[in-house]
Amino acid sequence: MIPRDTIQSILDAARIEEVVGDFVQLKRRGVNLLGLCPFHNEKTPSFTVSPAKGIFKCFGCGKAGNAVNFVMEHEKYSYPEALRYLASKYGIEVEEQEPSPEEKQQDTDRDSLFSLNDFARKFYVNTLFETEEGKAIGLSYFLERGFREDIIRKFQLGFSPTAWDTFTKTALQNGYSEKYLVDSGLTISKDGKHYDRFRERVMFPIHNLTGKVIGFGGRILTSDKTKPKYVNSPESEVYNKSKSLYGIWLARNSIVARDNCFLVEGYTDVISLHQSGIENVVASSGTSLTTDQIRLISKFTRNITILYDGDPAGIKASFRGIDMILEQGMNVKVVLFPDGEDPDSYARKHSSSDLEGFISTNSDDFIAFKTRLLLDETQNDPVKKAGLIHEIIHTISLIPDPIIRPLFIRECAEIMQIAEQTLMNELNKLLRKKKLKGYESESQEQIPEPVIIAPPQELAPDISDCSAQ
Ligand SMILES: [Zn+2]
Repeated sequence: MIPRDTIQSILDAARIEEVVGDFVQLKRRGVNLLGLCPFHNEKTPSFTVSPAKGIFKCFGCGKAGNAVNFVMEHEKYSYPEALRYLASKYGIEVEEQEPSPEEKQQDTDRDSLFSLNDFARKFYVNTLFETEEGKAIGLSYFLERGFREDIIRKFQLGFSPTAWDTFTKTALQNGYSEKYLVDSGLTISKDGKHYDRFRERVMFPIHNLTGKVIGFGGRILTSDKTKPKYVNSPESEVYNKSKSLYGIWLARNSIVARDNCFLVEGYTDVISLHQSGIENVVASSGTSLTTDQIRLISKFTRNITILYDGDPAGIKASFRGIDMILEQGMNVKVVLFPDGEDPDSYARKHSSSDLEGFISTNSDDFIAFKTRLLLDETQNDPVKKAGLIHEIIHTISLIPDPIIRPLFIRECAEIMQIAEQTLMNELNKLLRKKKLKGYESESQEQIPEPVIIAPPQELAPDISDCSAQ
């Protein structure tokens, strides 16, 4: 329980524009602030924050409330979790006691999973730095591949022991229940026996936006081909792979400051770039890029730069990524690393300024990127060239903004040396087709009921006159 007067001082301290501003880019509009709603997908802002009234309201989806409601809804926190989050943001001390075994039982599933994941993180970090095995296998691996100790600690990297059940036993001894060990995926239960999912692997904790551990990736170090190189936590009450981005909790401020987000493929790409001083970087590890992940980035910037390997798989992934990002109305650039290199290996071989230079000179918009890549092989083949043009026009047709589309058509016409009007006609044909299809699918779509979060009675703010002036 959080004492009543502590709750009051948290509520007094929390400024709605600061709380929301950690998650949503807000622009001043009269006495209010305006931004893109984080609770529904929109391209024109209808999400309003009123500093004077201490509340937010979205005129698109209807969500509304005070700072506590916002954190609850946005981070999927319980009421006490949201209060604790705000308390720590504003440096307010909350007197809390270590939960007894009974209280642990009463915790909600989410609380328990967060608490267990945090315990696991500490366990793996401790194993890496404090045990003989961890130092000999895990830490030496990280240091050999060039990670500095401050970076290893920043990313909370760890090591899971070789034995079958060291972690599971330790967690049980510390009062964590078997149910959550299995739910979190840290423990696998088979034929009445328990063993650790991650064994003899270096560990990469995966965090949510506020830095809580939601899952893990574990990389094997032996060359045993019968075992997968990476093992990841399964999805749980707190871990939704398609909505998570590796590194987002450390990247968010830098993404806002640089108004750009670098998108890479793996954990080690993110870590190596940080070590080189580039912090606005995330990875869609464990899944191929999803629309939810792009929307998560769009809370902080409208600009994404894809940094992928120059191998065929990397190129294919970047093509798919480009289309998805453009469809969300965002801007996309692409940097391909030279053959056999990825952002991680390149960062390790070159200085920070070389890396920055490479990225800035090799950032192409998607038309230049696709044509540069494909033009060589299509140059003397009119049929293939036509195929490439159709491909590019298809991508342009995904851009929602009708003012931006003609600009890319002009660029495409120049590079491909084709009359602009011809391309424009093609684009319009495609758009008409899509419009027809769009009507069909729209009519089948359910229009969701607007949802208003019900705050605890005594805290319910008056939202009747929070307007978008
Ligand atoms: Zn909304």
